[in-house]
This record gives sequence, C-alpha cells and structure tokens, in this order.
Amino acid sequence: MVQRLLQPGEIESLDHNAIPRLLLPHPATLFAARATRLRQLAAGEVPGIPVEEALRGYLGLMAQLADAQQAVVAGSVAYQVELPPDASMKLAHDHNMPPLPVSGARPAGWRAVFAALLEALKPGVEASPQLAPALALLRGLNDAELEGMADAILNGYAEGIDPLCAPFIAAALQVSWSLMASRLDPAWAQPLVTGTLCPVCGSQPVASVVRIGGQSQGYRYLHCSCCESEWHMVRVKCSCCEANGKVAYQGLVGKDADPQAANVAAAGEGKTLDKANDPTKVARAETCDDCHTYRKIFNQEHDYHVEPLADDLASLLLDVLVSEAGYARASGNPLLWLKDEA
Ligand SMILES: [Zn+2]
Ligand SMILES: [Zn+2]
Repeated sequence: MVQRLLQPGEIESLDHNAIPRLLLPHPATLFAARATRLRQLAAGEVPGIPVEEALRGYLGLMAQLADAQQAVVAGSVAYQVELPPDASMKLAHDHNMPPLPVSGARPAGWRAVFAALLEALKPGVEASPQLAPALALLRGLNDAELEGMADAILNGYAEGIDPLCAPFIAAALQVSWSLMASRLDPAWAQPLVTGTLCPVCGSQPVASVVRIGGQSQGYRYLHCSCCESEWHMVRVKCSCCEANGKVAYQGLVGKDADPQAANVAAAGEGKTLDKANDPTKVARAETCDDCHTYRKIFNQEHDYHVEPLADDLASLLLDVLVSEAGYARASGNPLLWLKDEA
C-alpha cells in the first residue's frame, strides 16, 4: 500500500492553532454590510471615524452602489461569471501566480454584471443627485471604452479614467472577482513571493484590518481592493515594502507610540492586552520611514463593524494628516478616483 503524502495545505489544516492565512470573501453578505456601514459613516454614527459634511453625500452614493452590488450578487447574472478552467488555475499555482489574475483575461460574464449593476441603480427619490449624471455617462460608454477603463482600473493607471465612471466600473469588477473568489478551492491559492499583493487575484490591498473572532483573533489581514479576499500579514510590518524597522501609527488624534504594537511584541501575535472599544484606535495610518508610504489599518477590537473599504473611504481626514506629514498613499481606493492633476 502506498501511503499518500499530505499536501502543505492539509498539514496546516491539521493544526487547529494555525493562523488562517487566507479568508475568501462572502459576497452574499459583504456588499450589504458595506452599504450599511457606509450609511452609518455618512450619518456620523461611527465614533472612531468622524466624517466631514462635504463627504457625506458621496458616501451615500457609494452606499447605493453597494446596494446594487448586493442585488447583482443575489440575482441570476451571478451565474454568468465562471471560474477559469482548472488547467489555467493549475498552471498559475505551479508558477506561484494568483489563480484569478486581474492582469489576465476577464471572465466573459463581467459585462453582464456591469449591465445588471446599472439596471439596479434606479435613480429614485432617495437617490444622490450625482447618480443620474453618472448613469448617463456610463450608459454612453461603448465596449472599447468600457474595456479600456477596466484595464486602467485593474492595472492601476490613472490615464484615461473618468473619476465619475470609475467607481461603478470598479464595482462591477469587484462583484465579478469576488464571486469567482468565493467559489475558489483555496488549494489553488498560495502565498505569493511578495506578501504585499493579493494571493488570489494579484491586486493591491485597499487597507488592512485587525480581525477578532475564532482563529483569526488579533491577527492582521490585508483586504484586496478587487476580489475582496483577505490575507494574513504580521502586524507592525510595512504592507508596502515589508520592512518592519520604521513603522509607526498615526491616528486622527495624533501620532502615538502604539502601545498596542508594543503589547503585541511583548505578548506575541494574536494576544490582546489592550482595552477594547477605544474609538481613537479604530482607524489609524501605518506609516513607514523606509519607503515613506502609508496604508490605513482598521481595528475590529475597537469597533466590531469595521469594514476596510468603507472605512478607508470615510477617513479621508486621515489621508490629509498623513500626506501633510510627508507620506505617500501606497495604493488607492477603487471607489474614489481623483482628477489627475498633471
Ligand atoms: Zn484579490
Ligand atoms: Zn515601507
């Protein structure tokens, strides 16, 4: 009898104390939770993330967009998005590449998702005044323009992007990729050579989040800006250059020495010595003096309902503070595109 050797993933699953390295998304609940969070942020109901008046309308519009994402995920169009053939996922796996690469061919169903998303965005009495002009622009795009903008969004170049259209196209791509990721056998995904890109689709993270509950308790995850997967990265490490020597934290109330980080260093990752539910620790920027960039980190220990993408969007004030201090944002938020100043 030949004894079958365990694969690395199976060995990890035998260890019940192992850190879950990859959290695949649950699109059926994710977009609804994001819509709720965006509305709470817009209403000023999140103590750790005060939102300026000027941003509230935009958050409301993005909440409507998240509602539409939720409607598309629950509808029949969701079945038009199919996983790539096993052979191509195997090839990617064998070469340490993401199995659902955003740089590769898009799933054929994504344009049906885009059309369904526009359909779900009916301007009603409650609608944001920005919605109707955005929809008119989006309906006017021909296929080449739409695919061109999708390329620019997924590959992270600002050229050719219309800031009003881009969040809606990015939203359709998120629906398509998160549906695929949710159906993925995690065995196809593995940590990449770099820990700074999504192991499922190869995109940049939008922000990071310290999770609570179950085996993820106290661990930090990076949240993918496209497929909505989360992957583990140890705390107090730059999510851009992976150096850990010059990382600091900037909150909305001022730079601190991060007692939390010191506690983690003393107690080991996954342990929490800090008092929970401290609003000053919900949203912070993790700055790095090695590469002079920052990314935000949201802490579920201090607000159970943190949602990395929504919270990142709502905490623009923190971007202002940190960029004034000389740090560049490591990567953008797919729901916010600013006009190219060049
Ligand atoms: Zn991803
Ligand atoms: Zn760095």
